Amino acid sequence: MLSYRHGFHAGNFADVLKHSLLTLAINALKQKDKPFVYIDTHAGAGKYSFKSEFAQKTGEYQQGIARIWAAAQPPEEIKDYLAAIRAENTGKQLVRYPGSPQLVRRLIRAHDRLQLSELHGSDYESLQQLFAGDKQVSVAKEDGLERLSKKLPPIQKRGLILIDPSYEVKSDYSKVVEALQNAHRHFATGVYALWYPIIDRAVTDRMLQRLQATGIPKQLCIEHCVSEDGALRGMTGSGMLFINPPWQLQLQAEALLPWLNQVLTEGRGTWKVDWLVHEAV
Ligand code: SAM
Repeated sequence: MLSYRHGFHAGNFADVLKHSLLTLAINALKQKDKPFVYIDTHAGAGKYSFKSEFAQKTGEYQQGIARIWAAAQPPEEIKDYLAAIRAENTGKQLVRYPGSPQLVRRLIRAHDRLQLSELHGSDYESLQQLFAGDKQVSVAKEDGLERLSKKLPPIQKRGLILIDPSYEVKSDYSKVVEALQNAHRHFATGVYALWYPIIDRAVTDRMLQRLQATGIPKQLCIEHCVSEDGALRGMTGSGMLFINPPWQLQLQAEALLPWLNQVLTEGRGTWKVDWLVHEAV
C-alpha cells in the first residue's frame, strides 16, 4: 500500500536540486540532433498546485522553489529550469509546479520521447490525464523499477533514466542498486540519475558504498544538505547520483550549488560534487 504523495513535497529544496540538475542533463542530451528517450521510473502526478491542500499543509515549497523564484540574478545554470516554471505560471504569482514529467516534456524536441511509470492510483490518473493524446509520451501504471531493464536498450540508443523513489520502505535503498546494476548491463551508455534523501546518513552511505562496489564506472555524486546530518530529524539533505553524466555537468553543478546553497539556506548548508567512481575501477 503506497502512502507517499509527492504533492506534499513538490517544489521543496530537494526538488529544486533534482529538477535543476535534470534540466541541465536533458539540455546536454539536446546538443546532439539524434533523438533520445527519457524514462521516469517513479513519475508522480506530473504537475502540482501550491493551492492544493497537500502543498498548503506542509508549505515545503516556501523553503524551496519560492526562494529561487524570488531570487535576484539567477545564474545561467538555473535559467532553463526557471523558464519551465515560469511557463506553468502565467501570472506573477507562483502557484503551479512542474514535476519531473512535465518539466522534461517542456524541454524535449519533437523527435524525443517520454516513458513514465507510476504505481499510485490517483497520481497515475492525474499523470494519464495530463498527457492524454500526447503522442510523444507513454504512461503506464506499473512498477517502474521492475520494468526498467525490459525497456533497455531503447530503440533510440540514447536516453536518460530518472530513478526517483520515495524511500518509504527501507528496501528501496537496496532495490535501486540492483535495478541500476541490471539496467546498466542492458544499456551501459545510458545516462542514469538516481535521487536519494539524506535522512539517516549511515543508510545513505551504505547505498552509495554498494553503488561504488558495483564496478559501474563514471558515477558522479551531487549533494546539498540544508542542515547538519542527524538521524531521525527528517530529511536534512538530498543528492543525485549520475552514471555517465554529461561532460559539462560537474562544472555546471560546481557553479550552481554555491548559489543554491546561498538562496536556500543563507549559506548555512553544505554541498559537494564528487566522483564516487571516476572511470573503470
Ligand atoms: N519523479 C517525480 C518528480 O520529480 O516530480 C516525483 C516522484 S515521487 C518522489 C515517487 C513516486 O513514485 C510516488 O508518486 C509513488 O507513488 C511512486 N512509486 C513508488 N513506488 C513505485 C514503483 N515501484 N513504481 C512506480 N512508481 C512508484
